[in-house]
Amino acid sequence: MDLTLDVWDSAEGFIRTRALPSQRTTKITRCLNLGSYNYLGFAAADEYCTPHVIESLHKFSPSTCSSRVDGGTTTVHTELEECVANFVGKPAAVVFGMGYVTNSAILPIFIGKGGLIISDSLNHNSIVNGARGSGATVRVFQHNTPSHLEKVLREQIADGQPRTHRPWKKIIVIVEGIYSMEGELCKLPEIVALCKKYKAYVYLDEAHSIGAVGKTGRGVCELLGVDTADVDIMMGTFTKSFGSCGGYIAGSKEVIQYLKYSCPAHLYATSISPPAAQQIISSIQVILGEDGSSRGAQKLARIRENSNFFRSELQKMGFEVLGDNDSPVMPIMLYNPAKIPAFSRECLKQNVAVVTVAFPATPLLLARARICISASHTKEDLVKALEVISRVGDLVA
Ligand code: PMP
Repeated sequence: MDLTLDVWDSAEGFIRTRALPSQRTTKITRCLNLGSYNYLGFAAADEYCTPHVIESLHKFSPSTCSSRVDGGTTTVHTELEECVANFVGKPAAVVFGMGYVTNSAILPIFIGKGGLIISDSLNHNSIVNGARGSGATVRVFQHNTPSHLEKVLREQIADGQPRTHRPWKKIIVIVEGIYSMEGELCKLPEIVALCKKYKAYVYLDEAHSIGAVGKTGRGVCELLGVDTADVDIMMGTFTKSFGSCGGYIAGSKEVIQYLKYSCPAHLYATSISPPAAQQIISSIQVILGEDGSSRGAQKLARIRENSNFFRSELQKMGFEVLGDNDSPVMPIMLYNPAKIPAFSRECLKQNVAVVTVAFPATPLLLARARICISASHTKEDLVKALEVISRVGDLVA
């Protein structure tokens, strides 16, 4: 059937349109969007952000049509890097036009042959590709299991040897703040302690946690009480909480300067679009209350309340829901991949858009529906969605 799908995130009116295969689109379905990463609702017209974005569009145009070193660095780019470094709690930051590339192009700059990457088994594909492309030896530890990470570290290092006698030039442990298919928070305090003990560097991908958790939206370090000085490389994307595009690496001034001189994705790629950069600056200003309102604090309170409400209601209904409190990502386990199309189709029939995930994104028999909660969902939206999921669960799960 020809279908155009309009998906919106709530009363705030975020519209996405997807034309399915044929151009002869005949049916329009408006759905409540439980599938996008629009955690704080900034992927919609915003009373503060949008006028600033339009102004930057007029001032700088949609694209610089140049790489960062060939004239593609405007005042918005330098302002963005300062703003991001300050927000995540690191001395410096560099931004890239795409989150995926931020991982896949950066890891080979940090480490190569003779180095060791120890990666969480469920890390995102951009990390997997970056690690493979680096030429370093890659070992995987059981997902979010510090005791197994320690086992791998001990196997790879002669315990108690001084640093210069270690068999690896450098060891980087890579984890995510919130795992996007599991909804789990990283066991960061334990992982950071192990990295200190075994003198490994910590690389933290905060794609799903920056902006979404922590008292002031500063991610898992703030939420879990980890000093950002103990996380060597902080990576994140702007495509979730900030409603924009691109990614960042934040770290010491020396590391960021080194990256700027050596990373092809900085030297040879067109710089991030100025209006997109402005969207990130403006949304961070709202989060921090620098727009003069309390909307940022309200959004942060709202995403936490919404997430915890939705998770506990799903559990009360008897669904098996993965992940931790405060996490806006909540997978409902369906296990059998044959249930996946029916679950999303039945939800869609009742105007709720849910993303379902199966192999190869998950192990074969661990298929799931993956709900993403937004601060822009109203209580009524969530109650309606719960009713629909309950009915569809009776039918399918
Ligand atoms: N890291 C993680 C953990 C992700 O989930 C994603 C994509 N969702 C990325 C990196 C890539 O980000 P982007 O979609 O902004 O390119």
